[in-house]
Amino acid sequence: MSDARTQELARNLDAVRERIRGAAQAAGRDADQVRLVVVSKYFPVQDVRRLIGLGVTEFGENKDQEASAKFAELGEGERTGVRLHFVGQLQSNKAGHVAGYADVVQSVDRPKIATALARAAARHDRRLEVMLQVDLDGSDPGRGGVLPADLPDLARAVADTDELRLTGLMAVAPRGADPAAAFARLAELSAQVRQEHPDADRISAGMSGDLEAAIAAGATHVRIGSAVLGARPAQ
Ligand SMILES: *Cc1c(COP(=O)(O)O)cnc(C)c1O
Repeated sequence: MSDARTQELARNLDAVRERIRGAAQAAGRDADQVRLVVVSKYFPVQDVRRLIGLGVTEFGENKDQEASAKFAELGEGERTGVRLHFVGQLQSNKAGHVAGYADVVQSVDRPKIATALARAAARHDRRLEVMLQVDLDGSDPGRGGVLPADLPDLARAVADTDELRLTGLMAVAPRGADPAAAFARLAELSAQVRQEHPDADRISAGMSGDLEAAIAAGATHVRIGSAVLGARPAQ
């Protein structure tokens, strides 16, 4: 596809990749250590197809129904090699469904969700990568996330299952907070978790507005929506 929308996405993608490169370079890191997850929520499967054509392989979605319907529209050939990260808040009754199609669940924030995911993954004969979403300041429970004090128990709950592989931590910078300070705190928590779970070395942090701060603090995954796809339609 080389319609106007594809060209727009290509330009945005180039600009985001350039920001990632610049931020990695400024931090003395290799840009290859930072994976781009394009958050395609609210945008149609046609945009996902365009982005696949432009070389994007990792997508993020935050709503079960939207994510499952959208990615089910991809043909088997299109879906091959594409990894879908679920980044939204999960209820335990939805977790089972998400386990049927997501490759990574970044937003696990309580043992009940971990248990539901593991059970459903077993039923689907699948393995899931899991990141623990951390609530960095406790000021906005609506966004989800485990409080730092509860992180060790949650990490053990995930690591103790056969179906879930604990790969790291995820966070959203608290509203109004200095993102550099927030992501530095996340990096500290990541180091603590790795003492017990050395393979949980991924850090998903940084969105369109703060990816530079996240990469400076060691992010291995950035989750970018609007900087690639444009402003989201009103919710
Ligand atoms: C929507 C969303 C993003 C992307 O946000 P942008 O600011 O549009 O880049 C990243 N992470 C999560 C958890 C999201 O829900």
